Amino acid sequence: MPRIEINLSEIQANARMLSKLYGQNGISIMGVSKAVLGEPAVIEAMVQGGVKYIADSRLENIQRMKAAGISSRFVLLRTPLSQAEAVVKIADISLNSEIEILKKLSYYANADNKIHQIILMVELGDLREGILPCDLAQFVRASLILPHVKIVGIGCNLACYGGVKPDSKNMQELSERVDFIEKEFQIDLEIVSGGNSANYEWYKAAQDVGRINNLRLGESILLGCETVNRKAIPGLYTQAFKLVAEVIESKKKPSLPFGDICQDAFGNIPVFQDRGTRQRAIIALGKQDILVSGLKVDDRLEILGSSSDHMIIDSNNHNLKVGDEVKFDLDYGSLLTAMTSPFVQKQFIDCGKDQGRGN
Ligand SMILES: *Cc1c(COP(=O)(O)O)cnc(C)c1O
Repeated sequence: MPRIEINLSEIQANARMLSKLYGQNGISIMGVSKAVLGEPAVIEAMVQGGVKYIADSRLENIQRMKAAGISSRFVLLRTPLSQAEAVVKIADISLNSEIEILKKLSYYANADNKIHQIILMVELGDLREGILPCDLAQFVRASLILPHVKIVGIGCNLACYGGVKPDSKNMQELSERVDFIEKEFQIDLEIVSGGNSANYEWYKAAQDVGRINNLRLGESILLGCETVNRKAIPGLYTQAFKLVAEVIESKKKPSLPFGDICQDAFGNIPVFQDRGTRQRAIIALGKQDILVSGLKVDDRLEILGSSSDHMIIDSNNHNLKVGDEVKFDLDYGSLLTAMTSPFVQKQFIDCGKDQGRGN
């Protein structure tokens, strides 16, 4: 069975280092758990590392973490209308951009004798979730009438759909909106959540972070990088996750398929380059387990392609025997799929204590 090796002390060290770095300017961290499906051991490492909240896009993951005894404030990143009743029971805070959903949340919070906390998301150009700035005041006014929801913050999300960079301009706009809303409605906004792992460069360059006092970080904690250029953040571990799978065939074969060419298993007509006869290995790992395009392997090996359950590797420069294990580095997409696949075993490596710096 393929397995993903997860180094918990490196994840904890990353969470601690990021909490410290951003904390220097009063920015707290929400550790984002969705890429690991709320895997309790990983999330406990984030909590031990000092993140102040845990945020996930799926209620099922939050339930899983709570059932495992993780104690934190839980934030729901995506609010499903049909789950509003469960949202108020399970999440402490949710991110929102539709008044219809707030009405439902307020209704069910009332039934539960609760006040559900909300962060309103503002659209700053990335064109995913968010209230348009010109509609924000009216939206806040409509929300304040709902007795069982409380606006505890304002947030925005960039660099996800439209690829828009967080910069001093859009961050300043968020700060100005916060000042305006607080003044106009005489409310205090406890949380101003300026973005995600893409906010690193903005933060490093910022003279002044304005009102921003929170970021929601997944990839930076898990993979040690920012997400505008996918550069490693100095001092962070970038290989806390490793995928390991075994060789189930190793033979010399021609590099050009022989016979009439038809569609492959996924409906594509494949094209190949003739490189003569080469040593090739088959790994027991496929598209059903992993986003193959996000894997990186030893320079001496080359991933040629994959089908649902098999990966084909050119091993001409680094012979592999049947039964050998091959290790891969993962990007965010591969991590997400590996953690989601029931066929990839999750194995924890806990080195006990931090062993200094990464990279
Ligand atoms: C997934 C998600 C994040 C975390 O993004 P990273 O790039 O992993 O830091 C933050 N905010 C929202 C709303 C998300 O959906």
